[in-house]
Amino acid sequence: MVNRVNTTRPRLSRCVICLGPDQGGGLCHACLLDLPATGPCCRRCALPLSIGERGASLCRQCERTDPPQDRSRIPWRYECPVDRMIQNYKYHGTRAQGAALARNWLRAAGMPEPRPLALIPAPMDPERLRERGFSQTAELADWLGRSTGIPVLPSRLQRHGGYRAQASLSRSERRRNLREAFFVAGSAPLPEHVALIEDVVTTGATAEAMGHCLRRAGVQRLEVWALARTP
Ligand SMILES: [Zn+2]
Ligand SMILES: [Zn+2]
Repeated sequence: MVNRVNTTRPRLSRCVICLGPDQGGGLCHACLLDLPATGPCCRRCALPLSIGERGASLCRQCERTDPPQDRSRIPWRYECPVDRMIQNYKYHGTRAQGAALARNWLRAAGMPEPRPLALIPAPMDPERLRERGFSQTAELADWLGRSTGIPVLPSRLQRHGGYRAQASLSRSERRRNLREAFFVAGSAPLPEHVALIEDVVTTGATAEAMGHCLRRAGVQRLEVWALARTP
């Protein structure tokens, strides 16, 4: 079952996973229901709640650290086949697989109320953007913008070059490094309620650094929207 995601280019109106009939946005009902759902999780960071935390809406970590985002909406776990679909999209340019997840995000996550006033894609390291040739978060924001009707602000949040997370750094060093990596471009005020768009949230440190940057630029209510969360 390791490689059950089909990487060939699907014909129109085919489910990108099983090649059966597409029942909306590139997936059939069965494959959509089969995707690994996040389940009961912390409303701010989307990490699964431990047994002792069940019934609460926040995990202990978020209660203690007060992260910049008020809400995370992340419908799937970064597990098979979602991980493979995202990798095929990011590293092999198989857009249909990224699009299938993005176009079904709203069905899986539900329409957020109140709606954010703008979607802001997480900026990529400029060097990585040159290598890859496209920004998956910018594309995701476009797809999500189309399905929710929320406008996208594609280039307000930006990232300096040379701040790639280094494996050799400790967690706190990486956090410090990240804090200086982002900036808001332009002088027009940002809308007071925005959603930051990510493909995958892993440790949450990057989303948090971007969140602090947006908060400093005047955002009052911040959500993080992503396809998948690493448990
Ligand atoms: Zn299918
Ligand atoms: Zn949490």
